[in-house]
Amino acid sequence: MHEMSLAESVREIVEDTARANGARRVSVVRLEIGRLAQVEMAAMRFAFEVVQRGSVAEGARLEIVETDGTAWCMRCSAPVVIGHRGDPCPTCQSFQLQVTGGDRMRVMDIEIE
Ligand SMILES: [Zn+2]
Repeated sequence: MHEMSLAESVREIVEDTARANGARRVSVVRLEIGRLAQVEMAAMRFAFEVVQRGSVAEGARLEIVETDGTAWCMRCSAPVVIGHRGDPCPTCQSFQLQVTGGDRMRVMDIEIE
């Protein structure tokens, strides 16, 4: 389950940010996860809870914002939105797509106390 190592890197970012801002507690962590990032949401929530234990973010609420997957269709010569990696172009059904967005996860922001 690679969500565990992703959650660990989230904790590092959150801890660094909290330290830099002199926070006593982190109340909310907001993550942006692309639909093509191959991150399992339930696994991510579980991993987050386990990993934040004992850190400044223990008990923080995790908010996940899902973003659309975007790709460039070579046949249409246009950007398209796709729901899953490996999906065809919704316009011309071609599989000649190059993923351009929605394929990663990042920490959007955190709320501190
Ligand atoms: Zn197309």
